Amino acid sequence: MRFDLLTIFPEFFTGPFDFGIIRRARQQGMIEILIHDLRSFTFDKHHVVDDRPFGGGDGMVLKPEPIFHAVEALIAENRRDDDSKRAAVVLLSPQGRLFRQSEAAVFARDYSRMILICGRYEGVDERVAEHLVTDEISIGDYVLTGGEIPAMAIVDAVTRLLPNVLGSETSAEHDSFSAHSSGLLDYPHYTRPADFRGWRVPEVLISGHHGEVAKWRQRAALHKTIKMRPDLLEKASMTDEEDDLKNLITE
Ligand code: SAM
Repeated sequence: MRFDLLTIFPEFFTGPFDFGIIRRARQQGMIEILIHDLRSFTFDKHHVVDDRPFGGGDGMVLKPEPIFHAVEALIAENRRDDDSKRAAVVLLSPQGRLFRQSEAAVFARDYSRMILICGRYEGVDERVAEHLVTDEISIGDYVLTGGEIPAMAIVDAVTRLLPNVLGSETSAEHDSFSAHSSGLLDYPHYTRPADFRGWRVPEVLISGHHGEVAKWRQRAALHKTIKMRPDLLEKASMTDEEDDLKNLITE
């Protein structure tokens, strides 16, 4: 998977991709992350990337020309005819559709390339959303100062779902929101010490009974979901057993 990040602050990305699983994925050639300075796709003397909004109002807006030039140049530069997977051109925007685990899984499975456009200021000239990108994506219902942090979140979430990126010890199968966990939250995790300040871990987890542990985890995941994210239950694809459990818990 190749990620191209377009930004007016390339230095922003110094560090975040240099640790842990993402660093290892880069070193092993499973992913490539390229950072591009939007200013290098301008043709004027001062490398202007923003301008005042038509119609008046506060703030500045990122101009369309450098963004179109950059995306078109990046796509032309690396077109691989033998590549059956797709390229996504993503505009990060609080007005986009919400990014979810299921979406990260689709990008990881069906795409070989993501170009991520990081907005700033009041945002990006709307013609980018209308005529250039394949996806307009938000990472949540709040407004950040720029698209760099959302871009990092997407690179991270997609990368960990690529084949062989996670070691078996950190498999994504049971993660919250995953198809495997029926779309529910993950079960609670505990480690040593078994007794910390008088708070003991659930006895079943140190019992050695794998079947009982599995049952406890299923129940605990449901409990946690009901408590923290009841909205997920409506969309969850639960087994009959989980459904019965849910009815028992909520009664
Ligand atoms: N005026 C815009 C609005 O209210 O919709 C907000 C612009 S925001 C200050 C500047 C840039 O940050 C956006 O163009 C976008 O790239 C990025 N951004 C901010 N919040 C975001 C979010 N929740 N998800 C994705 N991108 C976001």
